[in-house]
Amino acid sequence: MEDIRCIFCNQYSNQIIIEENGYTGKRCSLCGLIFVTHRPSYPELSKIYVQSHRYAETHIGFKKSKQVHAKHTLIKIKNYKNKGSLLELGAGAGYFLLEAKKQGFSVYGIEPNKIEAIYINEKLKINCESSLLNENSFEGRTFDIIYHCDVLSHFYDPINEFSMINKKLNDDGILVFETGNTADVKNRYYRYFSEFGYPDHLFLFGENSLRKLLEQTDFEIVKTYKYSKLLFLIIHKLLWKFKDTLKDKPNSTDSIDSKVAKETSLEARTNKSKLNLFIRNCYPYLAFLAQI
Ligand SMILES: [Zn+2]
Repeated sequence: MEDIRCIFCNQYSNQIIIEENGYTGKRCSLCGLIFVTHRPSYPELSKIYVQSHRYAETHIGFKKSKQVHAKHTLIKIKNYKNKGSLLELGAGAGYFLLEAKKQGFSVYGIEPNKIEAIYINEKLKINCESSLLNENSFEGRTFDIIYHCDVLSHFYDPINEFSMINKKLNDDGILVFETGNTADVKNRYYRYFSEFGYPDHLFLFGENSLRKLLEQTDFEIVKTYKYSKLLFLIIHKLLWKFKDTLKDKPNSTDSIDSKVAKETSLEARTNKSKLNLFIRNCYPYLAFLAQI
């Protein structure tokens, strides 16, 4: 475990804002950035992305809702570039790229999760690499557009990552990314969050720290779109609580035989998992509606 300082102000923090899964998120008193400290080592975190199946299951199951979101985002991107090469970082199951390809872009993906990278290459027939972005990615080529969504908080070294993104863009290339400005949320509203995804989400940014990141990595801000998420967060939390009530709760007075019968009742389990999947699918639809 590594005790880290603010990546912009080089200061340690004592201001604990979030406590989850045995990890703490501290806020930098100067720029407002919230960061996990102490944090797992890079090899420990890499295991989560490379080996974990949970992201793959989540992403691959959400095709329709991801494509709805992709269409919405591509309308925005086309205001600035309506053709050319487009690379997505953290491509998930590749549905954004699939939609971008349909709309005429030449698409590439980077996805550290090998299950998803294989899915993108073999099922979607889109060129996807599973190593992190580096100068040699895709045989050293550069791109007109680099896009990522809800990936920023996962970067182990955001300044390095954004510098590399800049190097991989053509001279008139653009970076488009979507992220929460969670660090700008007042402390009293954090209780409305269902989870913060610790320790995966290493950094939570606000407008001030985002501006610092972009300035330090030689980007010029062209346009910012903002969406309110408070109502969405409340509905999401209610749905999550409802989903938890669907989990099997063995009654202590049940005999062992009846407990086994409950657990092995295929019909009951199938119905519950269908409902569970439906509720999980509501999440990205709600996320999309919150952006309209
Ligand atoms: Zn700071």
